[in-house]
Amino acid sequence: MIEREQLEMDIVFVGAGPANLAAALHLKNLIKVHDDLIAKGRKKGKPLGDLEIGIIEKGSNVGAHILSGAVVDPIALRELMPDFLEQGCPVDAVVTDDAFWYLTENRALVSPITPPPLKNHGKYILSLSKMCEWLSEKCEEAGVNIFPEFPGAEMLYDENERVVGVRTGDKGTDKEGKTKDNFEPGVDLLAKVTVLGEGSRGSLAKQLTQRLGLNEGKEPQVFSLGVKELWEVPAGNFDEGRVIHTLGFPSDTKTYGGGWIYGMKNNVISIGYVTGLDYIDPLLDMHAEFQKFKTHPAIAKILAGGKMLKYGAKTINAGGWHTMPKLYADGVLLVGDCASFLNGQRIKGIHTAMKSGILAAETILSAFDNEDFTSKTLRQYEEKVNHSWIYKELYAVRNFHASFQKGRWSALVNGGLQFISGGMAWGFMPKENHVAGHERMKTLVEYEYKDEANSQRYSNLKFDKQLTFDKITDVYHAAVSHDEDQPSHLHILDTEICATRCAEEYDNPCQRFCPAAVYEMEENSKTGRREIKVNFSNCVHCKTCDIADPYQIINWVTPEGGGGPNYKGM
Ligand code: SF4
Repeated sequence: MIEREQLEMDIVFVGAGPANLAAALHLKNLIKVHDDLIAKGRKKGKPLGDLEIGIIEKGSNVGAHILSGAVVDPIALRELMPDFLEQGCPVDAVVTDDAFWYLTENRALVSPITPPPLKNHGKYILSLSKMCEWLSEKCEEAGVNIFPEFPGAEMLYDENERVVGVRTGDKGTDKEGKTKDNFEPGVDLLAKVTVLGEGSRGSLAKQLTQRLGLNEGKEPQVFSLGVKELWEVPAGNFDEGRVIHTLGFPSDTKTYGGGWIYGMKNNVISIGYVTGLDYIDPLLDMHAEFQKFKTHPAIAKILAGGKMLKYGAKTINAGGWHTMPKLYADGVLLVGDCASFLNGQRIKGIHTAMKSGILAAETILSAFDNEDFTSKTLRQYEEKVNHSWIYKELYAVRNFHASFQKGRWSALVNGGLQFISGGMAWGFMPKENHVAGHERMKTLVEYEYKDEANSQRYSNLKFDKQLTFDKITDVYHAAVSHDEDQPSHLHILDTEICATRCAEEYDNPCQRFCPAAVYEMEENSKTGRREIKVNFSNCVHCKTCDIADPYQIINWVTPEGGGGPNYKGM
């Protein structure tokens, strides 16, 4: 039995992303106003200035797990800090030029009009990693404690299923699970309110949602995977402040996918490709889709003479409003991407994530004011979301992702009609037929593959290490590090399925959907059977395997604190 230290805090935020950082900072600001009003006799109640507020972060520092290159709608940032520019928010560029390209195999058809949801003129291009680092400094100046290298490993509950905090991960366990000389047990951080802002497919949010049934009555979540690289390109290849979104090549018409290029400062561009994790082709490889995207003549021209700097991959919650879980339970709130706040049509979630944090902060203040941390008070958070601009924005695009279930052309027609009608949808799947993305993947037989050789999808794709890169080379550019002498953080619940059913039915799609070459099928020299090998130290923490595995037998849990990619300063 491991003895664990208990640390009593008042509020613990899990994950130092934009939602939680905005929440913690806003909470500090609200407490200051609250205490000032009490001091002036204009409000009754107790001063709250000495509340202990902590943020734990699994990365080696704030921003380490967030790869640069985002176009941010500053609406929430402005609410949080009206003078964010004067206060040093690290903006790279203001969008001055945006375009929408439809890519055929060899041509880029430039749309005469940019679809309104993709108009970004006047928005800010910035490095989210740097922005989070900057926000964390603001939080620390305001008195928030930030603990990097502290992954949230388990939720803590009392006997009434009320959340009472979070247990952080142990350090110093070897790969067999035995303690090493440097063993440090995780700490039980006890809190009156715990806020989960772990990002897409948060491992604690997953545990919590299943245990408390927070998804009951909601549609299953649908995710997408964005695979991206940062490049430095020759001056003149792509202007700072320019934004391009693409549709078409290399996705087939049944697969949800699209690309982006954002011009940052110093001739750095963020380039990436998003693929829906509700794809049906079992031989699809999202990393290869991205590499293929870069070979399109119009894209390759932008990258010509350039150099790849960084690589990353991340899932996003694309399901939208109908998939949003219940946002609160006793002692806990969910904010940001782990609670499905992303606007899939605009491919934007930073502003909604930050706003969710702001509304969570208002609710937490009210909870401390009333000294009630149960659902009775915390439900105010969901009510606030429903009365905010988040609702207006997300409800209007509630059917966006679902309209892709009948393919690209139906989605384009439906997307236009939804835009005009405020989100109404026509002629696609009724609500009760919506299924989780992994359930849509077809078997090899259903997809009419006889063997991998009859997939033409990547037959022309070569990795020349100048324009296109294999997964291992890309992983090197994610600066990933995990101590190899620790238990794998990728738990396969039944490896027998990998060697038998999954091999026969899907040819082990984990080998393809993982963008970091973590999963390999390897011949066992004794049995001659092909078995799964997990190179967990390559993992870039995108969570795709936890989401896309057709048997749902991969469970992603947090590795030792500090492990993972490192995008600091990018
Ligand atoms: Fe992503 Fe899973 Fe591969 Fe890690 S192992 S990079 S989480 S798909």
